[in-house]
Amino acid sequence: MMDWIETIVSRGIRRPGYPADDWVAAWALDRFAEFGLHDARLEPVDLPVWRPVAASLEVHLDADPSRTVTVEAFALPYTTPEAAVTAPVGREVVPGAIVVPEYTFTELPQFYVRDLAKAVHDPEGVFDSLVQTLPFQLDYLDVIQGAIDGGAAGFAGALTGVPWETRDYYVPYDAVRRDIPAVWLSGGDARRVLALVDEGPCTGTLTVSAETGPAVSHNVIGTLPGRSDQWVIIGSHHDAPWASAVEDTSGIALVLAAARHWADVPEEQRPHNLLFLLTAGHMAHAAGTRAFISEHREMLGAVVLQLHLEHAARRCEAVDGALVPTDDPEPGWWFTSPGLEELVAQALVAEDLRRSFVLPPDVFSPMPPTDGAFFHPEGVPLVHFLSAPMYLFDSADTIDKVHEESLEPLTRAAIRIVEGTAGWRRG
Ligand SMILES: [Zn+2]
Repeated sequence: MMDWIETIVSRGIRRPGYPADDWVAAWALDRFAEFGLHDARLEPVDLPVWRPVAASLEVHLDADPSRTVTVEAFALPYTTPEAAVTAPVGREVVPGAIVVPEYTFTELPQFYVRDLAKAVHDPEGVFDSLVQTLPFQLDYLDVIQGAIDGGAAGFAGALTGVPWETRDYYVPYDAVRRDIPAVWLSGGDARRVLALVDEGPCTGTLTVSAETGPAVSHNVIGTLPGRSDQWVIIGSHHDAPWASAVEDTSGIALVLAAARHWADVPEEQRPHNLLFLLTAGHMAHAAGTRAFISEHREMLGAVVLQLHLEHAARRCEAVDGALVPTDDPEPGWWFTSPGLEELVAQALVAEDLRRSFVLPPDVFSPMPPTDGAFFHPEGVPLVHFLSAPMYLFDSADTIDKVHEESLEPLTRAAIRIVEGTAGWRRG
């Protein structure tokens, strides 16, 4: 599985529509065929591509224009692609001005999540004291929307509350076109900009260059017949914000491992027909999952389980502004539909997947925050595994962030959950 992960990551950035992502889709199709999956195929997915080229912010003090700070920036996906705006710069939203709001990640005490869970596996007893840093601020879309609604000329989000130095924050990824020049600044760069802003009125130039437009990506699909007329769909997504090892190269490896396992199991021992799905365009509002649902809606009533596998993540700590991997997995969320909770809980214990929660699919939001979310409003029974390490959307998601020790236990747990649906039927 680590060989697969290294092969994929070595291709480079896999955003929707990028050559590396197309390569990975074709490569995964070859693996499906090699394992002996039936009807292995690519299905097209229309989506918008977003390719940031360059961005910067130059700010000077109005009272002394020789006092200048110039910093590199990273454009927010699907915002105004080409811009060079000169305007006043400040901390607050002002019509016609560039706003530099400070941005902090959310600290989530695990006892809070435990109170929401249907079951937990925490043999170490860490949930009383463990606090997880999530890779977003809960109201981050409001921050950008507030700047747009307030008539700001530009948005330069200051990642001063992110525990390591980065501007590579690929958020938001809902593929909604937002008509404002908008960038992220690393914490250190932002502090230099804000120090100047705090001295007195400043003027700045925000420059953005990015490419956007339509693209065609592909879902990767293969099937195996089983002993019932019902279906289990096992999925993850193949695109990513960066060359991302955890997001979701680890998910691809989990789906491939499941496919290889079930291909070696005789048909009469497979509890249901199995469909393996690697979707395109998670980073474009789950375009691949939405395309699959609209293309295959007629089968959804016979799906007893949609299992999504995302992010075998290693927990990191921030030490002196740098990410340091630990020996521990990031807490795992298992978004599970009613009726499946006990099956999932038993699998977590059997495979000793510590730091796991069994959660209702809608515990945090109307749909789970997963690539397979759009199966939820279709009424398909879900088990969606996902963890949300703080580096999830960042270029720091490198091979050392994969929690290698979890890959096989996660694979076995996924097999147990599928086996546990034997004899189940919808309707
Ligand atoms: Zn993912």
